[in-house]
Amino acid sequence: DQGESGPVTSPGGCVYITRPPLDQGTPMQDQHTSPPAVDLRGVTKRFGAVTAVDRLDLTIRSGEFFTMLGASGCGKTTTLRLIAGFDLPTEGQILISGQDVSEVPAYQRPVHTVFQSYALFPHMTILDNVAFPLKVRRLTRAEQRDRAMAALDMVQMGGLADRRPAQLSGGQQQRAALARALVSEPAVILLDEPLGALDLKLRKEMQHELKEMQRRLGITFVFVTHDQEEALTLSDRIALMQGGRIIQLDTPANLYNAPNTLYAASFIGETNLIPARVVGHDNGTGLVEALGRTRRIEGLAAPAGSAVTLALRPERIRREAGGEGPEGRLVGIDFIGTDLRLTYALADGSRMVVREQNRGTTIPRIGETARLGHDDDDLHIFTT
Ligand code: ATP
Repeated sequence: DQGESGPVTSPGGCVYITRPPLDQGTPMQDQHTSPPAVDLRGVTKRFGAVTAVDRLDLTIRSGEFFTMLGASGCGKTTTLRLIAGFDLPTEGQILISGQDVSEVPAYQRPVHTVFQSYALFPHMTILDNVAFPLKVRRLTRAEQRDRAMAALDMVQMGGLADRRPAQLSGGQQQRAALARALVSEPAVILLDEPLGALDLKLRKEMQHELKEMQRRLGITFVFVTHDQEEALTLSDRIALMQGGRIIQLDTPANLYNAPNTLYAASFIGETNLIPARVVGHDNGTGLVEALGRTRRIEGLAAPAGSAVTLALRPERIRREAGGEGPEGRLVGIDFIGTDLRLTYALADGSRMVVREQNRGTTIPRIGETARLGHDDDDLHIFTT
C-alpha cells in the first residue's frame, strides 16, 4: 500500500527523528470489498521531448477524496486527462472500477470531469444543462427532468433551475457544473481546479460544501489543485507530484507532520530551513551541530562533515525568556487575526519564523529579544 509512508529512511535521502505513530487516514467505506476506483499501472505520457507523467503507479480507493497537488507543470492535469480519456498514455494501463479502460473513449468512461471554467452551455437553462448528459443517453424527457432536478437539489440549486448561466454567480455556476457531474452517477468525478475562479471567501465556502457532499454521496473525487491549503482541508489522501512523479502519497496529517523530502517540507505549509552539519556518530546515532548545540539523531547515516538541512515548523517554536534555544531579535510582526507570525533575526544573520495563536495577550515589540525554544522531536532532517 502506498498510502502510509515509512517513518525512517526514504530514497529521497531523508531521515526522521523518532516520530509518533503516523495517521493512517479515514478508512474508506468499502476499500476491502470493491476494486479501486482508479488504478494507474506504469503510466507514462510524453508530449514530444517532454515527459509530463513518468511511470506512475497509483491506486485511488473507492469513495475517497483524492487530491493531486503540485507546482505548475508537475503533471497533475495530464494525469487527470489520462483518467478522463482526453489524452491516451504513451505507456501503461488505466483501470476504472477494475475495468481496463485504456482503449475506451472518453465519453464511454464512467467518469465526469468538472473544469474551472464550468463549461456550461450559455444558451440553455441550468435545468437543461444538467439534464444534457441524460439527453445524450436518450432517457425520456420525464426522467431527464426528474433526475436533473434531484441533482440540482443536491447542490441546493433547485430554485434556480430556470435561469441561464449568465444569470448566476460564479459559485452558483460551479454548483450547476457539479450537478451536471452528479446526474449521470459516475464512478469517479474528476475535478480540475474547480474552485480556482472563485474569490477567497466563496472558495472557502465551496470547499466546505464540496467535502460535505462528497462524504454524503460517497462518490470518489479526484481533485487537482496547486493550493496546498485546499488540498490539506479537503482530502483523505494527497499525492504530491513533481516532474511527472509522485514524491509522497499520504494523508494530509502525514504530509504536513512527516514530509519525506525537503521539497515536501517546503511545499506544504511554512517551514524554517536550518543549515546544519554532521559532526560525528555515537553507536549509530548521528551527531548534528545546529543552532548552537549538538543534537543526537537516531539512524542518521550521513558521514561526518556532510551538510544537512533541518526543517522546523513555525508553530512548534516557543518564545522563552531563557533556555537552550537560540536567541533571536524580533524584526517583523504579521498580525493574521487568529495568529501572530513573528520573524526573528538570529546571531548568524539567519531568520526564524515563529507562529503562535492570538490569545489576546500583549503583542511583542520590534527589537525585543527572546530564546526560541523547540523540542528535538519536531525537527526533520534532510540529507539532500
Ligand atoms: P498547471 O498547474 O500549470 O496546470 P500541471 O501540473 O497540471 O500544471 P500539466 O498540465 O500536466 O501540469 O503539464 C505537465 C507538463 O507537460 C508541462 O511541462 C507541460 O508543459 C507539458 N504539457 C502538457 N500538455 C501538453 C501538450 N498538449 N503538449 C506539449 N506539452 C504539454
